[in-house]
Amino acid sequence: MKGNNIEALVRPNIRTLCPYSTARDEYTGSLGIFLDANESPYPTGWNRYPDPHQKALKAQISALKGLPAENIFLGNGSDEAIDLCFRVFCTPGVDNAVAISPSYGMYTVAAGINDVAVRSVPLGPGFSLPARALLDAADAHSKLLFLCSPNNPTGNAFDPAELEALVRAFPGIVVLDEAYADFSAKGSLRQKVLELPNLIVLQTLSKAYGLAALRLGMAFASARIISLMSRVKYPYNINQAALDQVSRALASPVDGYVSEIVSERARVAAALPAWGFVRRVHPSDANFLLVQVDDADALYAHLLADGIIVRNRSRVPLCAGCLRITIGLPSENDRLLQSLDRYEKGDIHR
Ligand SMILES: *Cc1c(COP(=O)(O)O)cnc(C)c1O
Repeated sequence: MKGNNIEALVRPNIRTLCPYSTARDEYTGSLGIFLDANESPYPTGWNRYPDPHQKALKAQISALKGLPAENIFLGNGSDEAIDLCFRVFCTPGVDNAVAISPSYGMYTVAAGINDVAVRSVPLGPGFSLPARALLDAADAHSKLLFLCSPNNPTGNAFDPAELEALVRAFPGIVVLDEAYADFSAKGSLRQKVLELPNLIVLQTLSKAYGLAALRLGMAFASARIISLMSRVKYPYNINQAALDQVSRALASPVDGYVSEIVSERARVAAALPAWGFVRRVHPSDANFLLVQVDDADALYAHLLADGIIVRNRSRVPLCAGCLRITIGLPSENDRLLQSLDRYEKGDIHR
């Protein structure tokens, strides 16, 4: 898709929106007497508004992710970026979005809030990418296509070449959610935003980086798309405490944590088939396993009574009988395996 075609996809009132300019847009220095924003002058530690453009943190994330700051949007979690995709591109009650199913629930919730219909397309055999069916589901009002790789809750990552071909073929914006990419050997497509004008890649600090409580999500896209998202967001969407703490946390690498999760994922996946009630452990490129068992509700209740909380996904399309189990600390995974052992032996909680 050509860059100029992106303009036609933007919701008309957003294309012409005059964004709120904050008091500090004109002055970027840090020394001075600030009598412009009606803030308190008393140094509580938090009396000044944070930088609405998040310049310092974007510079840090730019170095970390290898993309220019103009291609980076920071949000209050990737959930904010998901909502902004609808608000920037979709006219409520008119436009629609296409999405793989099953996938992350927020796409449908954000679509519903924005009065945008979702055309759900089931994954293919083995949770494969249903590229042809996704293209066939789109019409002239399909502004967005939501893909998630590695996908939640199935855990598998799609082939990068297949994803790229789909982005090139889709006539609207493709939102590729890579919340779990750090755990996958298939890597990230984020560098492709420099050549694919209709691609938005979402990542988050909530999973591999261990910063879920700080709420920091990232969108990578063309400078034009980033500018559209920035003009629609709340001016101070990332608060000063999050800016400070994220900046500090990013100084320590998380590679050790990620490699331990990946090796624990292999250990747990290898242990599970030993029990007769485990029917299938789906291959995972993420920090969780989707496990099909004989009686998902009974096992879920047993684990819960044992103080182990997992996600019951057995009522999700294509996931009948499945629990989604996050990989924890080695000691926590041991506790899970011990509890499964007790369940098999009939020493069960109900
Ligand atoms: C956990 C998760 C996110 C993270 O959302 P945040 O708002 O950044 O915490 C995004 N997408 C998927 C698919 C997830 O599973």
